[in-house]
Amino acid sequence: MLDAKTTCTVVVGAQWGDEGKGKLVDVLAERADLVVRYQGGANAGHTVVIGDKQFILRQIPSGILHQQVTCLIGNGVVVEPENLFAELDQLRERGIDTSGRLFVSDRAHLVLPYHKLLDAASERSQKLGTTGRGIGPAYEDKYGRRGIRVTDLRRLECAKDLLEDRVARANRLLEMMGSGERARLEDHVRLLERLAPRLLPLAADTGLLVHRALREGRRVLLEGAQGALLDVDHGTYPYVTSSNTTAGGAAVGAGIGPTAINGVLGVVKAYTTRVGNGPLPTEAESPFGERLRELGGEFGAVTGRPRRCGWFDATVVRYAARVNGLTGLAVTKLDVLDSFAEIPVGAAYRLDGDRCEEMPAEVEALGRVQPVYEKHRGWQQPTGTARRLADLPSGARAYLDRLEALSGVPIRYVSVGTRRDQIIEV
Ligand code: GDP
Repeated sequence: MLDAKTTCTVVVGAQWGDEGKGKLVDVLAERADLVVRYQGGANAGHTVVIGDKQFILRQIPSGILHQQVTCLIGNGVVVEPENLFAELDQLRERGIDTSGRLFVSDRAHLVLPYHKLLDAASERSQKLGTTGRGIGPAYEDKYGRRGIRVTDLRRLECAKDLLEDRVARANRLLEMMGSGERARLEDHVRLLERLAPRLLPLAADTGLLVHRALREGRRVLLEGAQGALLDVDHGTYPYVTSSNTTAGGAAVGAGIGPTAINGVLGVVKAYTTRVGNGPLPTEAESPFGERLRELGGEFGAVTGRPRRCGWFDATVVRYAARVNGLTGLAVTKLDVLDSFAEIPVGAAYRLDGDRCEEMPAEVEALGRVQPVYEKHRGWQQPTGTARRLADLPSGARAYLDRLEALSGVPIRYVSVGTRRDQIIEV
């Protein structure tokens, strides 16, 4: 991946998010010139560990940790500027110089405080398990054609006029939803005045920057957030995020044509997790679920919420392979399974008595499926020091072979720990 033939590669989550994309992007970024975030917002949280430092990046691509990489926040992202600035400050405090290396699409939409009030109010009634950061309402405004974009800050007086209308509308909605909270226009106006001088110097036509980089033969990594099963079209609707997390969304959200992309790496854990509500067919029973959570540190990077944990679900990964057009798989957190005596794998589902190999469209049907489990003998040896496939215990290699066969996608990377060097390139 990201070699002479795959100069434009997408990294996507191929489960329900939190697969360890941040680490893979960090590893691949070593060979990249540009790293581009293409969807989502500050609701995503990549965790990258370098030496004894842990970085949690919400909006800035994890490629920023490499000095030679320029990072772009694409038009498909909804940007929360204050959070972005806080991230930039955190990086600077820790010795990472970002000057001249981070640009934000001038077509990206802004997440403003009224979006967060709307998110909180709608979560109280809809209970989708959102992170409450205003991402959903910001995308609703984008598609409702009433969003405020980065470029609007160039004409602050016009932006203020837009705000008057948007804040009034948000307050009407809040009232309808029975919320006692109200957005204050003055606060929003002051916020835009404060944001403009720091955000505008970063604003650029980021699609053009990607286009030029590719034309010059430079290497571009497109970094997805969340996972395929949270894609607004392909995920377990309505328990999904508000954007297209899949590889098609990468073209749209980075501002390039789909023909420019020539590699799609799907990141999966060696097991399965999900946050928020909605079905998780291979959810592990007690005490195995708790053990996976504890060993894998399965708590949300942004919210701290405990993740629900279960066994590898091949139906999910096959589906993700299809809707993303995956050309390779990265299996992470293999080490988390090191101590298990037996490791079940969900090979397919049984739905109303019939074998089912494809993902049902209705979330209610997915809630009813029974996984068809295969039982694998655990290897019960540490894998964290392996740097080649041959270093792995034979049981672990057999497990990976089976995941590859069930998913139908070649495994290109295996991650065996949090550190940068704990990776096997196949
Ligand atoms: P992302 O949003 O997909 O990047 O995922 P998160 O950052 O939320 O979660 C990945 C977590 O798993 C981070 O804390 C990583 O440091 C950690 N991680 C990534 N790869 C591995 C691995 O191979 N083994 C272990 N034990 N942890 C890993």
